[in-house]
Amino acid sequence: MNKLLIERNKLLKNIEIIKKYSRSKIIAVLKANAYGLGLIEFANILQQNGIDFFAVTDIKDALKLRENGISGQIIVLTPTNLPEEARLIIQNGIIATVGSRTSALVLNNAASSLSKTASFHLKIDTGFGRFGFLPQEIPDVCSFIKSLDNIQITGTYSHFSYSFSKKSKTAYAQYNTFMDTIEQMRQNGLEPGLRHICNSSAFLLFPEMHLDAVRIGSAFLGRILVKNTYVLERIGYLKSRIIETKELPKNHNIGYANTYRTKKPIRIGIIPIGYADGFGLVKRRDSFRLSDILSYIWRDVRLLRKKDWVIVNGKHVSILGRININNIVVDLTDTDAKVGDEVILDNINPLLVGIHVEREYI
Ligand SMILES: *Cc1c(COP(=O)(O)O)cnc(C)c1O
Repeated sequence: MNKLLIERNKLLKNIEIIKKYSRSKIIAVLKANAYGLGLIEFANILQQNGIDFFAVTDIKDALKLRENGISGQIIVLTPTNLPEEARLIIQNGIIATVGSRTSALVLNNAASSLSKTASFHLKIDTGFGRFGFLPQEIPDVCSFIKSLDNIQITGTYSHFSYSFSKKSKTAYAQYNTFMDTIEQMRQNGLEPGLRHICNSSAFLLFPEMHLDAVRIGSAFLGRILVKNTYVLERIGYLKSRIIETKELPKNHNIGYANTYRTKKPIRIGIIPIGYADGFGLVKRRDSFRLSDILSYIWRDVRLLRKKDWVIVNGKHVSILGRININNIVVDLTDTDAKVGDEVILDNINPLLVGIHVEREYI
C-alpha cells in the first residue's frame, strides 16, 4: 500500500542542471541503494541521460549494475583487502580503489593469478581520516605501486570532510594538500590519471575544484546541505492511504506517552506508515559544529509546522500524538476524507525509507 514515488521529470531536470554546471566528467555516486531511489532504475535513467561513470561502495552493487546492463565505468569507493573481492572486481571490469599497501598487494596478486591488469584509482587521505594513503607516504608509495606489474593507476582522488560552506577552511586546505600530493606523484614518476575530489556540495560551491571529474550523489536528489540557488528539485515522497476513520470524544488521549489530548470531539484517520517505513526519521546530526546545529534547529523550527502535516486529498491535515512504528493518526475533522483516500507524505528522505517500501518512478 505504501510507496515511495520518484518524479522522473524532476530527476531529468536535476541531471540537466548538474551536467550544465559541471566543468568535468560526472561520476554518479550510487551508494545506499542509490540514496534510496533504487539502484538499478536510478542508474538506468542516468545512463539514458549521458552519465557513463558510476561509483558504489559495495562490490555487490557493482555486480548488480553490470548484470543489469550498466555498461559505463564503475568504481568501488571502498578499498578491499579480500582476495575474493579483488578477483570479482577484476573479472567484471570494475575499477578498484587502492588506499593502502595491503589493498594494492591484494589487487595485484588477484590480477596476476588471472593474468590480467587491474585498473585502480589511488585514494589520498587529505584529512578525512578514513580510507587512503597519507600525503607523507606518497614518495614511497609511488615506488611501491610502480613495482607491482599487474595493476594500473587510472585515477587519483580524495574526499572532503566539510564542504558545505564557502568558508570551510578545511576544504581549501584539503584541496591544496591534494594538489601538492599529485605534484609529488608526478615528481616520483606516477601519473595520477583522472583527478577528483568534489562531492555534491563542493561541486556546487567550489567550481574551481572540479578538476577532471566530480562525484555526485545527493545533488541528483536535490537534497543538498548548501543553499539551493541552483534550482535543483527535491525528489521523492511517500504515498499511503487512510485505512480507518473514527470519532473521538473531547478529552481523549491519542498515542503513546499521552502527548495529545482532544480539545473537542474530532474525527481521526489512521495511516499505516511510521518509523519502520522511514517516516518521521531524521538523520543524525551530532557530527556537525555548533553553528551548523543551530542552523539546523532554526531550519527544523521553520519546518516544524510542515513536519506535523500530511496531505489528504490535496489538503494539509495535522498528525496527532506521536508517530508510531507502523501508524500515524491524523485529524480529519474538517474534511470529508474516507477510508481508502490517498495520503501524501513529502517531508521524508528517500535514504531513510525502508527497503521493503516499493519504489515507483512516475
Ligand atoms: C558519498 C560520497 C560521495 C557523494 O557525496 P554527495 O555529497 O552525496 O554528493 C562522493 N565521494 C565519496 C567518497 C562518497 O563517499
